[in-house]
Amino acid sequence: MSTIDLPLLPLGKGRDLDAERGVECPGDLPAASDPDLVERARAAKAALGDRLFVLGHHYQRDEVIQFADVTGDSFKLARDAAARPDAEFIVFCGVHFMAESADILTSPTQRVVLPDLAAGCSMADMARLRQVEDAWEAMADAGIQDSVVPVTYMNSSADIKAFCGRNGGVVCTSSNAEVALDWAFAQKPDAKVLFLPDQHLGRNTAVLQMGIALEECVVWDPRQPGGGLTAEELAGARMILWKGHCSVHGRFSEHVVDELRAKHPGINVLVHPECKHEVVLKADLVGSTEFIIKTIEAAEPGTVWAIGTELNLVKRLADAHPDKTIVFLDRNVCYCSTMNRIDLPHLVWALENLAAGQVVNQITVDPETEADALVALQRMLDLPGKSHRD
Ligand code: SF4
Repeated sequence: MSTIDLPLLPLGKGRDLDAERGVECPGDLPAASDPDLVERARAAKAALGDRLFVLGHHYQRDEVIQFADVTGDSFKLARDAAARPDAEFIVFCGVHFMAESADILTSPTQRVVLPDLAAGCSMADMARLRQVEDAWEAMADAGIQDSVVPVTYMNSSADIKAFCGRNGGVVCTSSNAEVALDWAFAQKPDAKVLFLPDQHLGRNTAVLQMGIALEECVVWDPRQPGGGLTAEELAGARMILWKGHCSVHGRFSEHVVDELRAKHPGINVLVHPECKHEVVLKADLVGSTEFIIKTIEAAEPGTVWAIGTELNLVKRLADAHPDKTIVFLDRNVCYCSTMNRIDLPHLVWALENLAAGQVVNQITVDPETEADALVALQRMLDLPGKSHRD
């Protein structure tokens, strides 16, 4: 097994950079208890004016989202950033792979800043380039590589998107995964798809939207020789699912769905396709964060909803729709720990540094990776139509 470069760790600001790589904030990070944080953020934003564009992912904290110029999912935000070529600084309140995508889709003169470099994504970290290249070679040895089309979820690092670009593949989002899989299967006779890095989105889309049999989906475990699969299993598969998952959406369970249905007859269960297949099978509706928001906005007053996605978004939806009953599909608190790394002190620290002429925590993708990743992203942008779940 190859040596794997380790992902960023979701740990606190500290001096032990061996244990807490990438989390140093040069200069003074304001204390969370500073009563002037909101005013300081406002003042720094005002000082930067149109030179600054702040993007806020739906899963961000309220204290941060209040300063976002625009909110959305990762792909919408990257496109919003590209549509503001006049903005010199793009402050991305989200996680690392999102800031990379914004850097790829914006002009070379625009600078993308992630307020805390420890805001990674555990799912994206589950597929490292070296692991994927090893898998690709193993598929060549197994005699199937020529028929495999790689498809990566937006929630992956830039070098995985670039791998897909170099190898005839495409990027997809949770809104257009079905269209992307249709495209991939049309690329070669008897095509197989290597789906990265979220096995659940891949399985749910293949089985529930495209009618592929569950037995035709196999899981490639990068920690096992040959992915832990036999030559026969690989030969018989149509979907080779990378063994990755979202640590937030992976927590929801079918038992809680049963409990809520018993407690609230008539409840509507609405989940994200990153949830496990067993949970999605028990849900009434499944779709992206944008789909979840639109569904709740369009719901009748008095209706009852259980939502399976990140808690910051569910809480905001509940607050914004007091005429509907909205509950969280888990017994425990279920925030995304890395998304929540971006807090008001880090945002103030980043904005004040920019206002003082210092660019901190800039996210840059090297030109070669960017060019290959753009190929895969462009293939996605060229896909026909849009999913009904967008
Ligand atoms: S919610 Fe899941 S997929 Fe999204 S950033 Fe957090 S760990 Fe990654």
